Amino acid sequence: MKTLIVNGTVIDPASGLNRRTNVLVEDGRVAQIGNTPSSAADRVIDAEGLLVVPGLVDIHVHFREPGFTHKETIHTGSLAAAAGGFTAVVCMPNTRPAIDTVETLAQVLETGRRDGLVKLFSSAAITYGIEGSRLTDMESLHQAGAVTFTDDGKTVMDPHLLYEAFRRAAELDVPISSHCEDHRLVDRGALNRGATSRRLGDPGIPALGEELIIARDILFAEETGARLHIQHVSTARGVQLIREAKARGVRVTAEGAPHHFTLTDEQALISGTLAKVNPPLRTARDVEAVAQGLRDGTLDAIATDHAPHTLEEKSLPLDRAPFGMVGLETAVGLTFTRLVHTGLLTAEQAIAKLTSAPAAVMGLPVGRLAAGLDADIAIIDPQKEWVVDPQTFLSRSRNTPFGGMRLTGKTVLTMVRGDIIYDDREGADNPWPADAD
Ligand SMILES: [Zn+2]
Repeated sequence: MKTLIVNGTVIDPASGLNRRTNVLVEDGRVAQIGNTPSSAADRVIDAEGLLVVPGLVDIHVHFREPGFTHKETIHTGSLAAAAGGFTAVVCMPNTRPAIDTVETLAQVLETGRRDGLVKLFSSAAITYGIEGSRLTDMESLHQAGAVTFTDDGKTVMDPHLLYEAFRRAAELDVPISSHCEDHRLVDRGALNRGATSRRLGDPGIPALGEELIIARDILFAEETGARLHIQHVSTARGVQLIREAKARGVRVTAEGAPHHFTLTDEQALISGTLAKVNPPLRTARDVEAVAQGLRDGTLDAIATDHAPHTLEEKSLPLDRAPFGMVGLETAVGLTFTRLVHTGLLTAEQAIAKLTSAPAAVMGLPVGRLAAGLDADIAIIDPQKEWVVDPQTFLSRSRNTPFGGMRLTGKTVLTMVRGDIIYDDREGADNPWPADAD
């Protein structure tokens, strides 16, 4: 089967390719990028006015399997990924059991190969049970395929233990991914500590709690030579700490999440617990700093922190509802609406933050669109206007504060190894793959 994608603007940030041309896909791979005639193909996809880009890469998702499959499974999570244009993801280890042994890791990767439509990579926990007290067997987990180590959702607080984790990570040359939060400063807050949290009677989560750990982990990385990746940076001073560390040569990378460059803490007045996320939505100044951090390269990648919860769980009171929101199906729309159409990033820069840059952070063999490589491709309509309707999400969960929001920019087709796994073009009768349920 030969598929030819014609008339699109083909962007491959890693090689600097950005021009109107055709992409020929054959036997699951990109056979040629150039002016191949349509007669050479069995199937032609017209991408007039559209961007043809590497399949997007999300290095921060929670697919909830094993243990919390009422929220999401590897299968439903990968359907959501496909609908967002993502063809590769890195799963977080806070499942039940946590991904803290080679057996659990192997099971997750095997389920990914069996049920996942997209390429599934996994992190592993730094400590057993994400309890912060005993280091996992990082060497064996790394050999078994863990691409990064993280206790995401929690912060390892014991400096002796953490020093040892960084030392081993340096030896293995694998990044530590850090969820930054000094919980001793947090004390059961749900929202950013400020006017909105006070108004809602919430104790609040201070920016300082995140910034203390960012500063600490930068020092650990500097001391040990390990690679550090700061997850979901949400504060202006956090961005500045990373900027300064990069300037003096520390091996630190960082990600920004669409909700953190789009929404302020006031969203909780509109969306209630659907706006409860950790780190929390902060002030307008912080939102601007995250966007500027992406613009100047301080923040390398856009990552969603896709965190499904049922609406039942989210209907609990503010202090008891779980943290997190789904993000895979709104990421492209938010990135284009908030960063590209405002002129903060070019389309090529935005695509880099969603493909080659996150792949480089985690050392993943994905995020490129070039002859000879797997045909993992997203086709994006940068001008498509749409309104977020959580009822149409392919994720098992619908917890988003973006419902009803009008966005400009949407994934219209997603392909993994040459197979179309999502198709929302005009005229396509059913955008979902046959086995969607
Ligand atoms: Zn986190």
